[in-house]
Amino acid sequence: MKQIVLTAKETFEMREIPVPEITADQALVRVRAVGVCGSDIHAYYGEHPFMSFPIVLGHEMAGEIAKVGENVSSLKIGDRVVMRPQKVCGRCRPCRQGRYNICETLEVIGCQCTGGSSEYFAVDAGLLYRLPDNVDFIRGTVIEPLSVAVHAVKRGLADVNGKNILVLGAGTIGNLVAQSAKALGAAKVMITDFYDDKLEMARRCRIDCAVNTGKKELFEAVSDFFGDEGIDAVYECTASQAALNQVLDVAGKGIPIVIVGVFAGLPGINIANVQDREYSLIGTLMYVHEDYMEAIRLVENGSIDVRILISRVFPLEECKKAYEYIAANKQTAQKVVLSV
Ligand SMILES: [Zn+2]
Ligand SMILES: [Zn+2]
Repeated sequence: MKQIVLTAKETFEMREIPVPEITADQALVRVRAVGVCGSDIHAYYGEHPFMSFPIVLGHEMAGEIAKVGENVSSLKIGDRVVMRPQKVCGRCRPCRQGRYNICETLEVIGCQCTGGSSEYFAVDAGLLYRLPDNVDFIRGTVIEPLSVAVHAVKRGLADVNGKNILVLGAGTIGNLVAQSAKALGAAKVMITDFYDDKLEMARRCRIDCAVNTGKKELFEAVSDFFGDEGIDAVYECTASQAALNQVLDVAGKGIPIVIVGVFAGLPGINIANVQDREYSLIGTLMYVHEDYMEAIRLVENGSIDVRILISRVFPLEECKKAYEYIAANKQTAQKVVLSV
């Protein structure tokens, strides 16, 4: 079978290798689609702090079951599935508390170990979720980032119902955080960005208010839209020091501020404001099983539109073109998917 390996900075190689054997607890997936994630893009340019060459990318994988191990009863040949790409130990303190997304020895499939950029992929059956009939493989790849968003929303507010939400950044994750908050019952959701195309996309996804904070002051936008009600939670999806500090200046006191963006370096943050205004700064990483179930439900019942987010589909063999397309279309490209 074919497998695509990222062997060095900006260099993919196609290898011909045997179809993998499966263990009794695994399933063999005939891969049909693999999403390209922000972390893959960092890896492609050799800029990911926790990834090294050579690596087979592909943690946002969708496909169909080609074979199941003898202990697997939950899946059968032909089932259409997506993968939750987490290898966890099950024994460390976070794992024992059910917070295996922050397992002490977490390995992300397609980041720290071999991912699904190949024709077939062997994976533990417990990491596979059946894709609803009304969701195709291409859209199925968005279940993974959507689960990131669902988890993030719940980290900020156990119940988002009736709440007012501000999301900074209208890239794929910001968009999905805003859509998830809305789908889970938020009263008003505002999203910000510097790129009008991404804001327009957010509007098409029925986000209540999309503001270009390069053109309008955040403070003004927040008070115009939320008025005296104010904001109940902020989700920072830009990984920008300036954006975070702006929010620490203008958000009402005492609310949770969830750090969803992956910051590089050591940003200078106005911690005095965090202390004085009793903000809760909350981290969020990946997802757990329940978030996957929720994400699949939200796409199946149509409350979240992931189709709008898919900018282009390239064949897996042309993955270099996909990365070049993303680099050339920073302002407009959201999700790019490789079909297999
Ligand atoms: Zn991803
Ligand atoms: Zn663990």
